[in-house]
Amino acid sequence: MANANIEELPGVGPATADKLREAGYTNLMTIAVESPKTLADACDIGEATAIKIIDAAKKAAEVGGFESGDVILERRRNLSRLTTSSKAFDELLGNGLESQSIVEFFGEFGSGKTQVCFQLAVNATLPKEKGGLDGDVVMIDTENTFRPERIVQIAKARDADPEEVLKRIHVARAYNSSHQMLLVEKAAEICKKTPVRLMIVDSLTAHFRAEFVGRGTLAERQGLLNKHMHELLSFAEVNNSVIAVTNQVSSKPDAFFGDPTRPVGGHVVAHASTYRLYLRKSKGNRRIARLIDSPDRPEAEAVFTVSEEGIRD
Ligand code: ADP
Ligand code: MG
Repeated sequence: MANANIEELPGVGPATADKLREAGYTNLMTIAVESPKTLADACDIGEATAIKIIDAAKKAAEVGGFESGDVILERRRNLSRLTTSSKAFDELLGNGLESQSIVEFFGEFGSGKTQVCFQLAVNATLPKEKGGLDGDVVMIDTENTFRPERIVQIAKARDADPEEVLKRIHVARAYNSSHQMLLVEKAAEICKKTPVRLMIVDSLTAHFRAEFVGRGTLAERQGLLNKHMHELLSFAEVNNSVIAVTNQVSSKPDAFFGDPTRPVGGHVVAHASTYRLYLRKSKGNRRIARLIDSPDRPEAEAVFTVSEEGIRD
């Protein structure tokens, strides 16, 4: 029954099933573990209906299988770690960025989000002894800020062959939110030829924010964002890769949050990101990263710098 169709849930007709699938809920487990509020927002259905659907999915999906801690520990030993090239930054995250998870960097314009992405892209191509993932990189660029010249600088500073590094970074410019989502599927084709160990989406939310303006569009935006996040997480799990995404803070009151320092995307993005880091400017080339919302690390800060070489302590 765990593989049963979502249409087979009591109370879910073809129209609701379509809405669920559109929002990324393609199997019973994803529905069973969702909160009623998120499901209701993502699918534009009432909260009471959402509660009924979730209850039915819980029964059908046989949620509640247990695993012993040592089995989970063994699985987690297979996770890879990607260095940021800053010791303090790595320590903030335990030991760099963890594979099979989504790491979100949010902050104002100029806070260093794109520079961190460039450094991660170079590092992911490096051998494991150097803190890399010995893999290829997929970069979804929504703001046209990819600069190969900058990759060359950063690669040289890490004693890597810039030509080789550039060959392993596959960049696509996303023209709108649906193109952005399509590119995640396209990336799976690259994986057939070579392992992709890092996927970057810079920026995750800019297109969504620009395209869906006003309260009436909120449910649709959140639904699509939710689908996007689920697809990214699934990519991370299938390929044992790191997903790094950037996000803006809303400078003017968002339809969702009035608070100007809140990241865009509301609870959908918050929920799906495994690690969230708030980046802000400090004196000169210094930047501060604050870890918010981690499953296993205390809320803490690290200071790093952005220089010609890239990210450093
Ligand atoms: P955002 O958070 O908007 O993506 P960026 O990551 O693009 O911001 O950060 C831009 C900042 O990075 C610049 O203001 C500058 O301080 C720094 N920076 C960019 N390129 C270089 C470079 N070649 N050398 C030193 N610092 C740089
Ligand atoms: Mg940027």
